[in-house]
Amino acid sequence: EQTLAGKTAFVTAAANGIGRASAEALAARGAAVVATDIDGAAVETLAAQVDGISAQRLDVLDADAVDALITSLPPLQILVNCAGWVHDGTILDCDDDAWDRSFDLNAKALFRVTKAALPGMLEQGNGSIVNIASIVSSEKGAPRRFAYGASKAAIIGMTKAIAADYVTAGIRCNAICPGTVQSPSLEDRLKATGDFDKALAAFKDRQPMGRLGKPEEIAEMVCYLAGDLSAFTTGQAFAVDGGWSI
Ligand code: NAD
Repeated sequence: EQTLAGKTAFVTAAANGIGRASAEALAARGAAVVATDIDGAAVETLAAQVDGISAQRLDVLDADAVDALITSLPPLQILVNCAGWVHDGTILDCDDDAWDRSFDLNAKALFRVTKAALPGMLEQGNGSIVNIASIVSSEKGAPRRFAYGASKAAIIGMTKAIAADYVTAGIRCNAICPGTVQSPSLEDRLKATGDFDKALAAFKDRQPMGRLGKPEEIAEMVCYLAGDLSAFTTGQAFAVDGGWSI
């Protein structure tokens, strides 16, 4: 297992699900983790429970707050962009608000956070950026994921563009494409269908392994891509999807 000692990792949407598991796994490997989330109380609780994690409230949609927080920190070695949101619907269900929220939270926030973090990384000639996309993106279509899939595809495009621009400057940028993973927002979406068990069974059926992923299983890939063991890898999208995209 690699050590991340001496590295500072900044994680967005770190209070729950994949972001939380990533913050915990990065800290377990010795990184100093700045866990950020719009739910400041929840990241404070996480920081109080786990050594190596400090908490900051951050709404990634607030451009000024993003800039203020990141420029107040020493240069980062690791950035994990995890904030995201699912709009459930086809193109005909998607109005301008759903489109804008999908792209603001899933794509534009990632652009802003990464833009704020990059100068420090460039100064030290070292940085690994890990973007949480989705297998539902340019990798795969899924029913009722029009705005979601389009905005997650944008993440893969940004990942490759950033990787190409900074490959000789010591900066790596990769994306992870999870299949369906247990998380609070997934629970909410299952409840919102009105038939939790049927919706859960449908999500499991999409995964050839017949189960949902665990946030920790995504966090392992985050740690691999964040650290020096993956030093020869950049600009890639890694599926961790229970076989959905086979
Ligand atoms: P989640 O959706 O349960 O939790 C998301 C967290 O984001 C919450 O703590 C919430 O407070 C925070 N958040 C919401 N809006 C925010 C904002 N404006 N600024 C900062 N934080 C904000 O967690 P999850 O399901 O693990 O999803 C995390 C990421 O993984 C998302 O980008 C999601 O699209 C992606 N993903 C999830 C799955 C899945 O099945 N769970 C699959 C593929 C990709």
